[in-house]
Amino acid sequence: MGEAPAFFVDDLQGDYANGHHLNWKGNETAVTIDGNRTYFIDVTKNGDSSEVGIQVFDRSTGEWQIPTVLGTKPDLSKGHSAILLDEERILFIKGDSTSDACFWFLEVNTPFVKDQKIKLGTEVVAWSKGVIGETEKPIVISGPSGVGKGTLISKLMEEFPSMFGFSVSHTTRAPRNHEKNGVHYHFTERSVMEKDIEDGKFLEFAAVHGNLYGTSIEAVEVVADKGKRCILDIDVQGARSVKASSLEAVFIFICPPSFEELEQRLRARATETEEQIQKRLQNAKLELEQGNSPGLFNHILVNDNLDVCYENLKKLLDLDSGIKTTKNPFSESILVPVQHETSKVENKIMITYAARKQENSAVNTLVLDLSSIKSGTPGRTRGLNINVLEPSKMA
Ligand code: ADP
Ligand code: 5GP
Repeated sequence: MGEAPAFFVDDLQGDYANGHHLNWKGNETAVTIDGNRTYFIDVTKNGDSSEVGIQVFDRSTGEWQIPTVLGTKPDLSKGHSAILLDEERILFIKGDSTSDACFWFLEVNTPFVKDQKIKLGTEVVAWSKGVIGETEKPIVISGPSGVGKGTLISKLMEEFPSMFGFSVSHTTRAPRNHEKNGVHYHFTERSVMEKDIEDGKFLEFAAVHGNLYGTSIEAVEVVADKGKRCILDIDVQGARSVKASSLEAVFIFICPPSFEELEQRLRARATETEEQIQKRLQNAKLELEQGNSPGLFNHILVNDNLDVCYENLKKLLDLDSGIKTTKNPFSESILVPVQHETSKVENKIMITYAARKQENSAVNTLVLDLSSIKSGTPGRTRGLNINVLEPSKMA
C-alpha cells in the first residue's frame, strides 16, 4: 500500500453524494482503506459529550454496514482529524485536547478486531486510546482454588498501591461474606453476563466450578487509565484465552506444596460448602496438570511458606530492588488545537498548527512516532512517542 492520505468528507462528496445514511453536517470524517472500504465517522453532539457513529461502505459490493463498535469511544465533539496509518488502524487526533489525551485509534483490522469479527460473526471496529510511553505488561495469576492467589495479590497491592491495580472480574457466583460488589467482583446475573459476552464486552470468560467468570475489557481499561499495571486472577482456561488474545501478559501459575495442603487451606478458609469444596478439589487436579504443562505459563511458583513465595513473586516481577516507577518519556502536556494539519512520513505523524501569539515561532510541529506502538490491553495502544520539532530543525 502506498502513502496513506486522510480523506475528508468534502473530498469524497463526489463519490458518495447519494447521501446514503449520511447527512453532511461537517462533523463527518471518512477514511478509505486499500481504495475499497471507507469508514465514515459521524459525530453528533449530545449535551457536553458526543455520539460517534460509524458506518462502513464496501466499494466492491456496494454495501453499507454498521459495525459492532467495541471499546470506550472518544469525545470528538470539539473537532478532530483522521489519518490512515496502515491496513489495521486509523489515527484520530482530538482537537482542543492535551497531548496525553488527544490520540485515539480506530482499530479496523488489528489481530484483536479480526478475532472479534470471527467470534461475533459481524463487522467489528474497536476504539483504542493512545498512551504515550511504555507501560508494563499485565500479570495473569492462575492456580487452583485455595492455593493463595488472592492472598499474594493482596500483599502485592498493599506494598505497591500506586503500581498495581486489580482487574475486577464478573461472576455469577454469590458473594462471600466479606466480598464487596465492584471491589472483589462484579456480581452479576447469568443472563446479563451472557448478553454482555455476546456483545463482545469480555476479553475472556469461562465456566469455573459451575459458575460463569470473566474479565471485561473495561475492567482492564480502568486499571490502565490509572497508569497502573493490571493483575488478573483467572483460572487456567481464562489464562489460555488471554494468551490467545491480543493482550500481551506475564503468566504466573501458583502451585500448592501438596494436594493435602491445598485441601486443608480450602477447608480452613471456610467459604465454601462441602459440595463446593469437593468440586474445587476435583477441578484442582486438572488445573495442576494443565498449569504444570509447558507452553502456557512463564513462571511457576510454589506457595509453601507464604513469605518465601511472596519474595519469589516480587523477584520475578523485578520488585526486589526497590520501587520502580513507569517512566513516561514525555510528561509535559501540550494543547493540540482544533485547527491542525497532519501528514504521514513512514511511521511518524507530523502535526502542525499555528502558534499562539506568545510563542516564538509561527507554527508548532509535533512529531508522533508510532514505530513501536503495541495494542496492549484492549482499548489502549501503548508505546506512542511524541516530540516537539524545534523551529530551527524544520527547514
Ligand atoms: P485463592 O485466592 O487461590 O483461592 P486464598 O488466597 O483465598 O486462595 O487462600 C486460601 C487460604 O489459604 C486462605 O485462608 C489463606 O489465608 C491461606 N493461605 C494462603 N497462602 C498460604 C500459605 N502459604 N500457607 C498457609 N496458608 C495460606
Ligand atoms: P473464586 O470463586 O474462588 O473467587 O474463584 C474461582 C476461580 O475462578 C479461581 O480459579 C479464579 O482464578 C477464577 N476466576 C476469577 N475471575 C475470573 C475471570 O474473570 N475469568 C476466569 N476465567 N476465571 C476467573
